[in-house]
Amino acid sequence: MELSSTHFLVVDDDAFLRQATGNMLKAMNVASIREAGDGAQALALVQDDRAQPVHVILCDLNMPGMDGMEFIRHLGETQSTAYVIVMSAHDENLIASVKKMAIAYGVKLLGAVQKPVSSQQIVDLVEKFIPPAPHVVKKASTSPPLAFTLEEILHGIDEGQFEPFYQPKICFKSGNIKGMEALARWIHPTHGVISPYAFIQTLESSGNIDGLTFLILKKAAQACKRMHDEGHFISVSVNLSLNSLGDPLLAEKLTLAVREMELDPKYIVLEITESAAMTEVAQSLENLARLRMRGFGLSIDDYGTGFSNIQQMTRIAFSELKIDQSFVKNCTENKELCVVIRSSIEMSHNLNIECTAEGVETKDDWNTLKNLTCDTAQGYFIARPMNLSAFSDYCHSYTPLFFL
Ligand code: C2E
Ligand code: CA
Ligand code: CA
Repeated sequence: MELSSTHFLVVDDDAFLRQATGNMLKAMNVASIREAGDGAQALALVQDDRAQPVHVILCDLNMPGMDGMEFIRHLGETQSTAYVIVMSAHDENLIASVKKMAIAYGVKLLGAVQKPVSSQQIVDLVEKFIPPAPHVVKKASTSPPLAFTLEEILHGIDEGQFEPFYQPKICFKSGNIKGMEALARWIHPTHGVISPYAFIQTLESSGNIDGLTFLILKKAAQACKRMHDEGHFISVSVNLSLNSLGDPLLAEKLTLAVREMELDPKYIVLEITESAAMTEVAQSLENLARLRMRGFGLSIDDYGTGFSNIQQMTRIAFSELKIDQSFVKNCTENKELCVVIRSSIEMSHNLNIECTAEGVETKDDWNTLKNLTCDTAQGYFIARPMNLSAFSDYCHSYTPLFFL
């Protein structure tokens, strides 16, 4: 993007640095420059649609009031298309985690620069990384992901087009198959196999996730029973939406559904993701305690990506902790990731919980995790999710030697 058509916003609590940055931008002939002394002022400027658009925000991290991190979060919530450049004196680790956070909030972070900022740094980031006219390019990427309406999804469920695929979980020590995770797929008559990212969110936010949960649970229980009949006494993991935990009758309904399939709940693991969104804390805890009492396994999914609710969750007897894939991928080459993994494994073992690593993609990462005494592995290195008949074949021809 050309600097002469780029509108800037400088956010810094230090008036002197703010002005110096503004003067530097002026000398670069940018389209316009506005200034804010903290996150709240900046947000008001971005949201004021009578004002000029903001293309690039130069933002300090450490500010009194709303700091840079909180500002980035709110910016994500407003679905702003502005690019952010973080100005900070902090070290690379902190900048790297701010980058991750920005991505998670859907904010486009161009990069981070040390203060005081130089004009060359701005030129490098803006001209090289921003495509022309960002407000027009917005979301029209080359191949937009398939988007379905709630009606279409519910119709697909009614038509029986949804079914779980299964991905094996392998015991590091023995190399045996311990279990499988049931992952929802929409086998669409015209679009083929559709990933859960295209429908879970819509079902959850409209209060319609339970229909899918019970459908997947019943099929998964049935599949688990079939595996037992074929001589493989494995368990099956099913993803449970946090929203469902607010229903006082949930534990009862899940137990009934599993018993209907003539399976002992001890073969079912319910995976729950940590989240800031949990509202019915007491009811959720009651449901989880009751499910555990009935023999279900309970797993903390995506561990490491969540929020402080996990502290409340530790009151519940979880049986498994799944380290999120973002920590697992390439852990062999990354010391920081290894530190997180090692402490997660240590914590789970101290709590007597099984530790699973998700997203194991390479032999190297398999070896690293094994050396760190992780219990269970799941990932493309072992196998991708597959339909039931392929999974059954996989179990028949499986030989643990490959992994040892
Ligand atoms: P999840 O529960 O964290 O499931 C693991 C996801 O990682 C799956 O994606 C799986 O296919 C993928 N995966 C496994 N191994 C690897 C690997 O080595 N590398 C990479 N890059 N990915 C790997 P999938 O099937 O697309 O599911 C996405 C998410 O959708 C799941 O994440 C889960 O949160 C949600 N989901 C899936 N099925 C259901 C369901 O029945 N109910 C609910 N509520 N959510 C579901
Ligand atoms: Ca899961
Ligand atoms: Ca996960």
